[in-house]
Amino acid sequence: MTENTTASLLEQYGPRDAMEYDVVIVGGGPAGLAAAIKLKQLAAAKGTEISVVVLEKGGELGAHTLSGAVMDPRAINELFPDWKEKGAPLNTPVKEDRFLFLTESKAHKTPNWALPQCFHNEGNYVISLGNVVRWLGQQAESLGVEIFPGFAAAEVLYNDDGSVKGVATGNMGVNREGEAGPNFQIGMELHGKYTFFAEGARGHLGKQVMAKYNLNEGRDPQTYGIGIKELWEIDPKMHQPGLVIHTAGWPLDASTYGGSFLYHFENNQVMIGYVVGLAYENPYLSPYEEFQRYKTHPEIRKFLEGGKRISYGARAITAGGLQSLPKLVFPGGALLGCDAGFLNTSRIKGSHTAMKSGMLAAEAAFEALTANRQHDELSRSV
Ligand SMILES: Cc1cc2nc3c(=O)[nH]c(=O)nc-3n(C[C@H](O)[C@H](O)[C@H](O)COP(=O)(O)OP(=O)(O)OC[C@H]3O[C@@H](n4cnc5c(N)ncnc54)[C@H](O)[C@@H]3O)c2cc1C
Repeated sequence: MTENTTASLLEQYGPRDAMEYDVVIVGGGPAGLAAAIKLKQLAAAKGTEISVVVLEKGGELGAHTLSGAVMDPRAINELFPDWKEKGAPLNTPVKEDRFLFLTESKAHKTPNWALPQCFHNEGNYVISLGNVVRWLGQQAESLGVEIFPGFAAAEVLYNDDGSVKGVATGNMGVNREGEAGPNFQIGMELHGKYTFFAEGARGHLGKQVMAKYNLNEGRDPQTYGIGIKELWEIDPKMHQPGLVIHTAGWPLDASTYGGSFLYHFENNQVMIGYVVGLAYENPYLSPYEEFQRYKTHPEIRKFLEGGKRISYGARAITAGGLQSLPKLVFPGGALLGCDAGFLNTSRIKGSHTAMKSGMLAAEAAFEALTANRQHDELSRSV
């Protein structure tokens, strides 16, 4: 790397073009899109205009979303009471919850009456979160939200008074020495009266904002887990749409936090995955290898035999719970969804909480904009 860092590239090729919006949203996942939709819905209900942009670093919406999840529909019910008529892809209601405690060769089923409420999924849906995100994106666009897929926000911009002014996208076509290559294109600035960070777990701009405004003061430190998922097409004879299986126990030892999920959804597909808390003490433990071992358990392997893996991925999850939530607002914006840490760990569900946090932030920002406020700390009068 030479001296030609971002700052000197900016000196050479800047200033960057800037676009002005009422609200800039970083991240086109459930949180960012629900916020964008809610802002537009509120403006439409009041007969006013509001400009909203969503930056999504994935090449298309949903591309960075790990598919396959059980979704609690309470946030989507609220955002689109007519989601069924609108064709939202929630097609597989949960039909059976099965919670198994595994030993190396046996599986002990916990009776459903003994299961804590967090393991009950009546009324929930087995979904492809990628499809739901794409659907939310279509709804957002039809309401007039500008979505820029393929653009990562790389820098937080500040006003002279220290409030957040917006973000800048990264420079493109920089070679590995950090210099401008033949296809160099300088980044672009997006200025918002309010800026929402909805980058998902451990979002790098969200972490900068937390540090700058000391948003974690008095909160427990955040903790993390890794979630590994695979999508399989299985033998139709073994497929039971709506069957939701969770396991605890083998192959993890009693001192390691973690467990598995196996969700049967449409088209003979199942989503199988494993979560391991990243506080594990055994330095030789590999979450990926533990996942592969788990798949060999007779009670699990029977579903996979004769099937084929279609895709796979891994992502961090926030596991700290409510006591690790940072302060959510700062001058000029808010943290949404998993960027803040809204995942409900005991349920391994964060898509509905992410959406709801986006909707609440949208309400607060809309109220502020209506009162001609900008760049201040969001609060709600209700
Ligand atoms: C293995 C696993 C299993 C899970 N199972 C379930 C489940 O069954 N049910 C459930 O409800 N939840 C589940 N979750 C949690 C759920 O996926 C998240 O809670 C939810 O996706 C959070 O939404 P979000 O919008 O906050 O973040 P994300 O969905 O992570 O979206 C963030 C988006 O921001 C984009 N982005 C990040 N940084 C930038 C940047 N700088 N510039 C532009 N774009 C950026 C990313 O590409 C991404 O598209 C699971 C998670 C994992 C990892």
